[in-house]
Amino acid sequence: MLRTPGIERDRAAEDAAFAQSPIHDFEHVFGDAAIWGFSNQWKALLPTAPRMFGGVRRGHQRVARALRRAGAGARVDDPTELDRLIRQVARDAGLSAIGVAPYDERYWFEEDRPQVVGDRVVVLILEQGWEATQEIPNYHYEKSEFIAYGELHERACRVAEALMDHGYKVAVPGNPSGGQGINIHFAIEAGLGQLGLNGQLLTPFAGSRLRMMTLNTDAPLPIGAPVDYGVTGLCEQCGVCARNCPSGAIRLRAAMHRGVRKWKISTERCLPVVSQADGCAVCMRVCPVQKYGLQTVLDHYAETGEVLGKGTDELEAYQWPLDGRVYAAGDRPRLTKSFMNPRALWGFDASRQTPGRGGAAASDLIPDPNGAAHG
Ligand code: SF4
Ligand code: SF4
Repeated sequence: MLRTPGIERDRAAEDAAFAQSPIHDFEHVFGDAAIWGFSNQWKALLPTAPRMFGGVRRGHQRVARALRRAGAGARVDDPTELDRLIRQVARDAGLSAIGVAPYDERYWFEEDRPQVVGDRVVVLILEQGWEATQEIPNYHYEKSEFIAYGELHERACRVAEALMDHGYKVAVPGNPSGGQGINIHFAIEAGLGQLGLNGQLLTPFAGSRLRMMTLNTDAPLPIGAPVDYGVTGLCEQCGVCARNCPSGAIRLRAAMHRGVRKWKISTERCLPVVSQADGCAVCMRVCPVQKYGLQTVLDHYAETGEVLGKGTDELEAYQWPLDGRVYAAGDRPRLTKSFMNPRALWGFDASRQTPGRGGAAASDLIPDPNGAAHG
């Protein structure tokens, strides 16, 4: 099951892709599509908005207060001691995992690069509820996802506050989804997990049943390293997410993309489903790693040569929210042409690299209660 730690890279191709077209925030490039997606998610968004945006607001207020105190605590120069202190703050805040990766401009959004303050990226992870995830796809899960974003933001800002109190600068994301760059890249480089066939970060403790957020900082925290947890080898034998994805958005063959060998999800096939079917996320729901835990799945494979749960309804069956039917293992709902290509997405081109019509980002429509929250 073991392969290469982290992800296979062609450094020259990564540099060339960055020089040709730096990475932008999805919402900046596809503002119209993002707003259309949000408008479809109102059923889950409305009841959870106070908790989600409340968490973001409280987090920003915490960071703004720390900024006013301007390094009130004792400066800690020793990386090991600083690491110990910050990990304790993360634990006390109820975060599930923390890791540190080198800052890499190639994986930071163009629109967030002016706020960069240092050469480290702190990755913070909050595990999502197990029960709600097993109900996917439905709007109760979508609600738990939105609430998790608010919770994560508030808790992660406690880590930012601690770093600032110890005399360091921190750049905090302004949007609820916690992104200033490609979070998965930094999580892999920090050794927190590996890329799964479903295009998500698979951690050993929760698979992809999680939300994550990144902070940029100049704090001299020890940097982690990629780890091979056995995910790549497992995915090669599993394929359960691809078999059950309603739209066939998950490709079984890995290919080089911007200098990185990866399984790349088809955005054109995923976006209509995720936007119109209660957030979909079937690919997270049917993954044995999120349900049973990585070690259990690896042990089972070592003993039997089989992927735990593969082919069983216990793992793979799900109720489709649009027709109420339960689809057995490997069976998938039929999606019509008009569902897969709604009028709102006519002309949507996932290969586009720069902001399109209007250039407005969905996140620009969400007021940041404290303005920029950067240390
Ligand atoms: S969210 Fe749904 S449509 Fe998108 S890749 Fe996952 S299973 Fe497929
Ligand atoms: S369902 Fe299987 S193939 Fe897909 S990400 Fe999970 S372990 Fe990998």
